[in-house]
This record gives sequence, C-alpha cells and structure tokens, in this order.
Amino acid sequence: MPYPHMLAPLDLGFTTLKNRVLMGSMHTGLEERGDWSRVAAYYSERAAGGVGLIVTGGMAPNHEGGVFPGAAGIYTDSDSTNHRLVTDAVHDAGGRIAMQILHAGRYAYGPDCVAPSALKSPISPFVPRELDEDGIEKQIADIVTAATRARDAGYDGVEIMGSEGYFINQFLCAATNHRSDRWGGAYANRMRLPIEIVRRTRAATGPDFILIYRISLIDLVPGGQSFAEVTRLARAIEEAGATILNTGIGWHESRVPTIATSVPRAGWAWVTRKLMGKVGIPLVTSNRINTPDVAEELLAGGAADMVSMARPFLADADFVAKAAAGRATDIAPCIACNQACLDHTFQGKISSCLVNPRACHETELTYTPTDRPKRIAVVGAGPAGLMAALVADQRGHDVTLYEADSRIGGQLNMARVIPGKEEFHGLVDWFTGQIDRSRITLALNIRATPEQLAPFDEVIIATGVTPRDPQIDGQDGPHVLRYTDVLRGGAQVGPRVVVVGAGGIGFDVSEFLVHAGQSPTEDLTLWKREWGVDDPERSPGGLAPTGPQPEAPARTVVLVQRKRGKPGRGLGKTTGWIHRAALKAKDVTMLGGLEYRRITPDGLVVVQDGQEVTLPADTIVLCTGQDPERSLADALEQAGRAVHVIGGADVAAELDAKRAIDQGARLAASL
Ligand code: NAP
Ligand code: SF4
Repeated sequence: MPYPHMLAPLDLGFTTLKNRVLMGSMHTGLEERGDWSRVAAYYSERAAGGVGLIVTGGMAPNHEGGVFPGAAGIYTDSDSTNHRLVTDAVHDAGGRIAMQILHAGRYAYGPDCVAPSALKSPISPFVPRELDEDGIEKQIADIVTAATRARDAGYDGVEIMGSEGYFINQFLCAATNHRSDRWGGAYANRMRLPIEIVRRTRAATGPDFILIYRISLIDLVPGGQSFAEVTRLARAIEEAGATILNTGIGWHESRVPTIATSVPRAGWAWVTRKLMGKVGIPLVTSNRINTPDVAEELLAGGAADMVSMARPFLADADFVAKAAAGRATDIAPCIACNQACLDHTFQGKISSCLVNPRACHETELTYTPTDRPKRIAVVGAGPAGLMAALVADQRGHDVTLYEADSRIGGQLNMARVIPGKEEFHGLVDWFTGQIDRSRITLALNIRATPEQLAPFDEVIIATGVTPRDPQIDGQDGPHVLRYTDVLRGGAQVGPRVVVVGAGGIGFDVSEFLVHAGQSPTEDLTLWKREWGVDDPERSPGGLAPTGPQPEAPARTVVLVQRKRGKPGRGLGKTTGWIHRAALKAKDVTMLGGLEYRRITPDGLVVVQDGQEVTLPADTIVLCTGQDPERSLADALEQAGRAVHVIGGADVAAELDAKRAIDQGARLAASL
C-alpha cells in the first residue's frame, strides 16, 4: 500500500478514523450567503475524496464572538437545520466531519467584541469590552451550547479553536490578559478558560463525541507562552476530556509568516514533534504540508500522529483517493499563494483556489462531458491556455495546444525561479503531467498562424502579454534590462540595481536580485534565522531575542514607482506584508512618488520632491507592467474569424494566474 503511515486508520477508542489525514478548518464565505446546499456540495466532494476527518470553517458560538458581524455560526437551534444538510451529505459520501467553534475575542471585527482585558489588537480598530465573571460564564456556556447543537446537527465532533490569537489564546497570554481575578495572573488561572470549556463540553456532549482542541504551540508574539506552559496546558486539556490535539502556529497579528508559500514545507512540524510523547492523545501537525510524500515522511518520522492539510483540499478534493490509488502526481498542488482562498476571505468574497476554480463553486462550475465534440485550437500554453485545454479535453473535445516556446508554463516559468516561490515548479510539473496524460495534441515551438487555425471549430487565444514599454529616455542603454531578460534569460546584473516598477513583478525581481545561494524556503535553519524564530523552550512565544537575522543582500537594490505612497500596496492582502518585510530585511530602498526623467550610464535620473536626483545604478531593470499580446487575435478578427481571447491577451492589467486559470476553465466549461 502506498503511504502506509498516512493511510493507516486512527483508533480513537469509541470510533476509528479511516486514515491520518485531517482537512483543516477554512472559511469559505458560502455559509454567510445562506446557500447551505453549496456548503454541503463542497464538503461532500472532499468526503468522497477519502479524507479521514473534515473540520468545518469556524462557526461562532454567539454574536459577540463572530469574526465579523453576521459571521456564520450555530446561534440557534434552527441553524442546526442548515448544518444538518452538511453532515448528511458528508456521511452519505462516507466521510466524518467536526464543526469548529471559533470565538474571535478581540479579533471579532465589530464594536461588540469581548476579551479578557480591554486591549486592542494591532490588526483591529475595535477595543474589546473586558468581560466580568458573568460575562466569562456566558461565553463558556455559549461555546458548550454550540457543541451540543453541533452534535444534534449530526456532526461527529467539534474542534475548539484555542490558537491563532483568538479568544481562548488571549486568556492564555499575559500580554493580552491583565486580569487579577481567577481568570488571570498566574498561568494556572490563565489556562482556566480552555480547561473549563473542554471539561464542560465533554460533560455536555458525552463520551463518544470527537473533541479536538486546537492548541497554540508557538504564539510568535511578544509575551507568548513558554513551551513548559504549553505542555502543561496540553496535559490539562487531555485530562479535561479532549480526544485529539491539533496544532496552531502563530497569532494573526504575528510578524512571522506561518503558511505563506515562502515558508518551508512542513516548516512548523518540529514544534508538534516537541510535544510528542508528552500527552496520551493523538497529536495533529499542520502548516505547509501539501503532498502525500511530505505527510508520510512526517508521520513515519514520528513528528505527529495525524497531519492536517487545509488549502490542499481546495486545490484537489481527491487528494487522499489519488494518493491511495498510486496517482500522487495527479494531485493538483496547493502552491500556498493564498490568492483565491485567504485573500478572498479577507475581501469578503467566496473562497476558491488558484489551481482549481471549482473549489467552493462545485454546483455552478461543472465540467460535464459534451455531446457535440469539437476541434478546438488553444494558442498559448501559459496558465490560461493550459487550463482551457485541459478542461476542454476532459469534456471530450479534440484539442490542439500551440506554444511558441520550447516548453509549457508561460509566466509560471518566471515565477518559479524567484526564491520563496519554489512551489511554482510543482504547478508546472502538474500541468506537464496532466497534458501528457490527456489526449491533447501539444505543438511546441510553433507560432500558430491564421492558416493553421482555419480548420478548427473554436479558437482560443491565450497568447499572454508583452512587457510594457515605459518610453524612458536612454532606456536603450546596454545596462538596461527587462524583467524577462533577468528571469528568463539569465542576463548579467551589476551590484547596484534600480528596479523600475513596483508591481508584483518588480517585487519578484527585487527578491531574485537580493538573494544568492540557497533559498531560505529550502533551508529551514536559514529561514528561521531570517525571520527570528527560536525554540519556544528557550524563548517564550518562539521569537528569538536577537530578532530577525537575514543574510546580507547579494546586491543593493532600489525599487521605485511613480505612484505616491508605499510600494507594494497592491500586492496580495495576506501576503503583501511578507514581501515588503522580506525586501526591507535585505535593505531594499522602496521609493514612491517619483517622476522618471532619463536613464544615463550612471543610473536613473528622477524628480523626487521637486528635486532632480540620480539614483546610481550599474543595472536598471524595467518592470513597468504588461500589455496584452493580441497580434494573432487581431489578425484573426480582422479576417472575420470569431475567437475567444483569455488571460493576459484579454486583459493584462492586474493579471494573475488566478484570473487566467479561472477564465480558461470557465470558457472551456461552456464550449
Ligand atoms: P503591475 O502590478 O501592473 O505593476 C506595474 C508597475 O509598473 C507599477 O509599479 C506601475 O507603477 C509601473 N508602471 C506602469 N506603467 C508604467 C509606465 N508606462 N512607465 C513606468 N512605470 C509604469 O504589473 P506587474 O508587476 O507587471 O505584474 C503583473 C501582474 O502579475 C500583477 O498584477 C500581479 O497580479 C501578478 N504578479 C503578482 C505577484 C505577487 O503578488 N507577488 C508577483 C508577480 C506577478 P507606477 O505607475 O506607479 O509607476
Ligand atoms: Fe493553495 Fe493558492 Fe489554491 Fe489557496 S488559492 S488553496 S493557497 S493554491
């Protein structure tokens, strides 16, 4: 059997899980829209895909504890009817599901938020109300009631969210708990809340109900818990009646990345491993685990009893089934980009997945077999064209995919050379494997002509983009490069560089130029040093007293834009701060509000605050945006041929792989 550790059953005493894979909690945004049949479809696809235990997105136990006003919850008995749709669908698909109870405390984005102390979090504008004794009792009672409602709604268990800096975690840390009553002060008092919650939940739900407690093993904030405290809490939680301990890493306000793509794979499993053997109940490890091989290695090596993966189940609902069938290379990889999942959540949009636009859209985006197979030409094997070709092929069309380059991938091939974006290799490999296994005719090194496309029933143009010409005087100088020369061509770059244009590509190019040698994403020790992470046994909370200690930058880089304000504002909601912090750590100077005058052999001459100054540089790299590459589309349209134009060839502004893949999939689903 492949993956014998990952696929081994887990005996919980009163019940047995079919394997060691837990689908971690994720907010989808579907629940708030009230369309619970879509919620049910989303979870039941994952249950059918073989995951051992699903944990739902966080459900509020009461209004003050919701992550935002109107957040999904299990507020009343009648809410249980909605939840019943989900549990029935999951059970019918052969799965098991636990409901996460999430009380946000001071992270609740609204004026009614409550906390142990009236201390505002740095990531929220709302000062919480300090709870009195009765207030604390009410919160406990509401959480216990939520658990009993969950049981009545057919859930196999609950997960009590005690990490990530939410309500319970706020009681545990002295930095956020300034109380002097029996709920604050000494650690024995600060840990009273989670213990009472678990004890009373167990008493109310009975012995045969899965009770997961998500424990913060490393808070990654100043004043975080020591590992001795965490271990003491873990033992007390076990004694209070928990069935499983799941791992939580870092608070939302922490300045250390915990799940971004630049975090090394399984980069936090060492913390879970520290707790192994110290409690008698199963431990789940999590964060940046995205392949069955990584999961298997962790379990075989004794890092945990079970692995949690969340985003990988957006990327591929059949993760476990494919692994079990020996088809691991068929699993669509989660590249940890956050672009369609967490970034959507924080923008109030329905979650999805960059590599799988069907995620959370199971009922409205379907790839049904066609009853009228057509001959379809797709021109351009970047993300948009690749996805369009694959979906069209899957539906039974006869597809030819033309690519002018000698390999597929388009812009993905540039992304994957950036330190911290190594996951893009996996995405290109996956597309390559999918094309190999399909019936698609792949025509590499061919720039398709209108004549070649004439016999096809449908023509999809996915020819991508060309770098925008910024028309700066002197840009033809030998020391001026385009981003494509640097990322694709391996052009020589001097020690002092000005990067012109601070969009996603300007940031990527800067990151590429300040690094030399091993990428920290592939070297955990280096990565921990870069971000100032220490063993919580030595440094409570896990923050090194020395702070971050990045390697010296390989070059001096100045990153500039014309817009006023800080460069990087338009980057991903949940990852932009990481890109900005990473460049700052490498002493990159970021300047906004400049006017470009000319390029000279000495550098870039700009107007800054009304003064003309030269930014000295040996090399200048132009990252000034992109324009659609439409020459083929225009030629065909002028000849009266109807074509479908997708991806960057359609709209280059704010282009990203998420939009390209989504557009390709939706078009091919409709042909
Ligand atoms: P972009 O985000 O549109 O940025 C273009 C940059 O060039 C801006 O800083 C813009 O700023 C400047 N610019 C635009 N026109 C100019 C002109 N005529 N002359 C001088 N400067 C000009 O485009 P991009 O960086 O090429 O990225 C393309 C897309 O790829 C992005 O939208 C992004 O979604 C995706 N991507 C994202 C990431 C990421 O999130 N890490 C990484 C790579 C790519 P001013 O106008 O202020 O000068
Ligand atoms: Fe993973 Fe990105 Fe998909 Fe989110 S959007 S699940 S991070 S691949």
